[in-house]
Amino acid sequence: MNNDALLWRFCVHEAGHAICAIALGHRVNVIFARPDGGYCEDTATPATDCALITAAGPAAEQLLSSEPPPAAEAPTQPATPPQRFAHLATSEVIADLSHRVGCEGQAPLLSDDVALAQYAIRGAESDPQRWIERLTFVKAYAARIVEQQRDKILILARELYLRGFLSANEIQLVNEESKNERVRLDRT
Ligand SMILES: [Zn+2]
Repeated sequence: MNNDALLWRFCVHEAGHAICAIALGHRVNVIFARPDGGYCEDTATPATDCALITAAGPAAEQLLSSEPPPAAEAPTQPATPPQRFAHLATSEVIADLSHRVGCEGQAPLLSDDVALAQYAIRGAESDPQRWIERLTFVKAYAARIVEQQRDKILILARELYLRGFLSANEIQLVNEESKNERVRLDRT
């Protein structure tokens, strides 16, 4: 896969996390994407919301990364984020495809798979049947949110592709320009 294709994949992935967070009523502080990884920081705290947001990244990648990137070229230089996020510009951090998950305070950066596994197991260590049920639930629900929000995700991903980095205000603006409804979760 060439750099542009990798960048597009990470843009769709991070936009999936971000739009899912917004659809669930949370704020997204920043998204960031480069050909070697990406990052999405949101303010969600309920464990199930965090798990849904986490699962939405891979779900978006799976459902939407075959959609076309923007017609314009990606920038030749990777984006330089503002100072507060300067630590994200190191390729060691980015290479982990890290974004904040796990949700409590200074949560460590984990891969989506590890974060979802932790969510599934927590409090149910002795009940593997329940792990599977939790995983199945969040993956299916996240895929549904991604389907419902696909246009918004693609709009945000294309913006991210061209700019490499979007702040909370920019994410808000892009989000307001697209018109989907906020998701209503009927959790059972
Ligand atoms: Zn992710």
